[in-house]
Amino acid sequence: MAPMQKIWRWYWIRLWFLLLSPVLWIGCGVLLERTGHLTLAHSVFPALFAAALFPAFFGVLFFRCPRCKRQFYIRGRETIVFQNRCQSCGLRAGESPERDDQSEALTKRD
Ligand SMILES: [Zn+2]
Repeated sequence: MAPMQKIWRWYWIRLWFLLLSPVLWIGCGVLLERTGHLTLAHSVFPALFAAALFPAFFGVLFFRCPRCKRQFYIRGRETIVFQNRCQSCGLRAGESPERDDQSEALTKRD
């Protein structure tokens, strides 16, 4: 797998984990309680979940743009997470930086 694909793959995994975390949290907690795994439900599962949630949260929040290497979501004092594009250069999440350099070069030529 190309390094760029790897960067975006981890980005999407973290983002989807964050988005689905409330459902996973409640779903897995209820499932463990209903099946009688109370120790797991009340100690091991919350610890593991938190251990996965914090790196995912900070990994997405402080994600660096593959093209301009600046913060993807943070620009100055603003944090914009809903656009899913780089706040500095406009690269959309999942896009290849090289391809966009070419299209940028084409528009500059016009
Ligand atoms: Zn950028």
